[in-house]
Amino acid sequence: MQFIDLKTQYEKYKSDITREINEVLDSCSFILGPKVTKLEETLANYIGVKHGIAVSSGTDALMFCLMAINIKPNDEIITTPFTFIATGEVIKLLGAKPVFVDIDPLTYNIDVKKIESAITKKTKAIMPVSLYGQCADLKTINSIANKYSLYVIEDACQSFGAETEYGKSCGISHMACTSFFPSKPLGCYGDGGMIFTNDDDLSEKLKMIHVHGQVKRYYHEILGCNGRLDALQAAILLAKFPYFEEEVKLRKQVGDYYIKGLQKIEKVTVPYIDKGNTHVYAQFSIQVPEREKVIDYLSKNGIPTAVHYPVPLHLQPVFSGECGGKGDFPIAEKVSEKIMSLPMHPFLEQNDQDKIIDIIKQALL
Ligand SMILES: *Cc1c(COP(=O)(O)O)cnc(C)c1O
Repeated sequence: MQFIDLKTQYEKYKSDITREINEVLDSCSFILGPKVTKLEETLANYIGVKHGIAVSSGTDALMFCLMAINIKPNDEIITTPFTFIATGEVIKLLGAKPVFVDIDPLTYNIDVKKIESAITKKTKAIMPVSLYGQCADLKTINSIANKYSLYVIEDACQSFGAETEYGKSCGISHMACTSFFPSKPLGCYGDGGMIFTNDDDLSEKLKMIHVHGQVKRYYHEILGCNGRLDALQAAILLAKFPYFEEEVKLRKQVGDYYIKGLQKIEKVTVPYIDKGNTHVYAQFSIQVPEREKVIDYLSKNGIPTAVHYPVPLHLQPVFSGECGGKGDFPIAEKVSEKIMSLPMHPFLEQNDQDKIIDIIKQALL
C-alpha cells in the first residue's frame, strides 16, 4: 500500500501530462513563458484573486512574502509552533523572530484567542498555517491584523482547494502561499509553489523578487533571487489541474469513510472540521495513545504511516530555545506526542481503508 499513490494518478492523466510536457519541449521556452503565465491566471482565477505568482517552492513563496513587506532583523512574526519547519525557518533566515502562539486542541491550527497577547510593537505580520488541509480561523485572524495594522500571510501549503464560509484558502488574506511539492493536494513533479494576492503593489514587488529584483532585464531595483517555477512544472500542473476538483471530492469521500470507521474506536481522535470549513486532507492525521505501537502494527502489515510533526518548532535545535522552551506551548507539545498520519490520496480504496481501521483497532485493544 502507498502512503500517497502518485503512480495511479500519473497513469490516469498520462496522455494530458505528456502532451503538455511535449509542448514545452517543442517550444524550447523553459523559463517563464506562456505555460507559467497561463498557470498563474488559471489558479488565481480558481481562487478568485487578482494575482498568482508562480515560484520555485512553498518555502520560497513564504520567504518572498516576508521580503515583499520588508521584514528586517528584530521584526516579529506571529505563527504556530505546530507546523513544518519552513514556516519558522524563513522568518529566522531573514533575521526576524518567530513568535509562537499555541494551537487550538481541536483543529491544530493557531489558537486565535491567544494571538492578541503575543502582539508587541515589533510585530509585523501574522503567519497562520492551514494545517493538514483545513483553513485556520482566517476571519478572526484578519480582523485582529486589521486592528493592529499587521499583514496576514497564510501558509496554505497544505490547504489549496480548502474552503470556508467566507472564501477559499489562498484568497482570504493579504498574501497566501501554496506548495506544489509532489505529495501536496495539487502537486507537480519537482519543487514549486505559488503566491496569491489581491494587492497590485505587493504583486509587482513579488514579481521582481522572484527574478533577481529586476524591473527589466539587467536593471535591478531591489534585492531578490532566482525563485521562478519551471515551465515544465507549470505544464504538468496545467495538465493535472482540470482533475483537481474531482480529486478534492474523492479526498473528502476517503476522509469521511475514515472518520466513520475510526470514530467507533474509543481511543482514536479523528480530525475535527470546524463549522463551515471543508478539508482537503493533505494529511489525514489522528491522535492515538501508544503511537509507536500503532505505527509498528501497521508497518508489520505493510501499511505506511508518517508523523506530522514529532517535534514542535520551539523545541527544534535550530531555534536553540530562543523562541520558547519545553512547556511553553503545551497543546502543541501534547499533540505532537500522539499525532500520526494514515495513507491518504484520492484513489485509496475502501477495502484498504477497512484493513487500516481494523489493524488500528487491534493495536489499541
Ligand atoms: C510543504 C510545506 C511547506 C513548504 O513547501 P515546499 O514546497 O516543500 O517548500 C511550508 N509549509 C507547510 C505547512 C508545508 O506543509
